[in-house]
Amino acid sequence: MGAALDKVLGEALEDISRRNLRRRLREVTTPQGPQVVVEGCAFSNFSSNDYLGLAAHPALKEAALAEWDRGGFGTGASRLVCGTLSAHEELEAALAAFKRTEAALGFSSGYAAALGTIPALCGSSDVVILDKLAHACLVDAARLSGAVLRVFPHNNLEKLESHLAWARQRHPEARCLVVVESIYSMDGDAAPLREVVALAERFEAWIFLDEAHGVGVLGEGGRGLAEEEGVADRIDVQMGTLGKALGSHGAYIAGSALLRDYLVNRARSFIYSTAPPAPVAAAARAALGIVQGREGEELRKRLSANMVRLASVLGAAPPRAAILPWIIGEETAALSLSGKLSASGALVPAIRYPTVAKGTARLRFTGSALHSEKDFEVLESALERIRASSQ
Ligand SMILES: *Cc1c(COP(=O)(O)O)cnc(C)c1O
Repeated sequence: MGAALDKVLGEALEDISRRNLRRRLREVTTPQGPQVVVEGCAFSNFSSNDYLGLAAHPALKEAALAEWDRGGFGTGASRLVCGTLSAHEELEAALAAFKRTEAALGFSSGYAAALGTIPALCGSSDVVILDKLAHACLVDAARLSGAVLRVFPHNNLEKLESHLAWARQRHPEARCLVVVESIYSMDGDAAPLREVVALAERFEAWIFLDEAHGVGVLGEGGRGLAEEEGVADRIDVQMGTLGKALGSHGAYIAGSALLRDYLVNRARSFIYSTAPPAPVAAAARAALGIVQGREGEELRKRLSANMVRLASVLGAAPPRAAILPWIIGEETAALSLSGKLSASGALVPAIRYPTVAKGTARLRFTGSALHSEKDFEVLESALERIRASSQ
């Protein structure tokens, strides 16, 4: 049984290996944090999106355990059947208050939020315009919607404008949705959000903003890039994830009460999926409390000082948020550098095609508020060793 399938898959994997694109899973045996143990080796971790170090924070544990007693673990059904527990309603109220929107709706992941929301908003007679570097889940969601797709070069406002003009001329009756991220996940740079908002308004298009790497990190109270740029109230659909800076799991869409109600009725990944465990929602709510409070403020200060430190170790300019890519080019060169860093105790992933374009393989460094001087020393001496051996 399965021999014929395995033969086909084996050949496909061989082909992936030959192109140096084979990936494999590595087991981490410690909680997430600036130091982790992976397959028995200790590392300083420069690869996580747990930017504020909340993933193993005691307040999240406490909230999750308390919720376990009140709401149990499994939810038994989808949200619309009997899976909407107090923890979900409380999290969504807290998210709406945090984002200063009328309402918010939780999803089981950012991937599910995108896949449910974009096809609910746009169909085959509509137009979706995406930034070239938009996350895979946004691209998949746009494709799934069946809408006419237009892609503009990364952060290129002229091309965005010409796509909008084209859409309005060729599809005057269509819904038109512009999809951008606040901080691009593999490049770490920010969208020119004020200009994007102004263009979308001029052409009467809607905006879908993915704040996966902005929320918790940027803006007053960690509200994100839209808040920092003063345009949050002009963005129709604000998505964020709960599994990165917020240290929990899941995602949300924040916007009007009608948007929430509409998605409850139309977002298939929401409707046809079991509700997330209550303790997970409670942990996310605890994280929201932390990011908006004094501790969050303090953690963002430390993160930002650590990004300055990280940038100086790498000889780069400090990034807007907590992601610093080091573009290498060849997949093999990036892999080899990542391997050498790891041999010296620094965990930095090589990011390759298809996550990034061919020939732009890179090391993706991420910072944490909890990185210590020791972690930077590990990284510095690892880089020293690489330089010395290449001379
Ligand atoms: C991680 C990520 C997602 C997906 O969120 P998950 O909760 O991990 O599924 C979506 N968009 C961007 C930009 C991301 O980096």
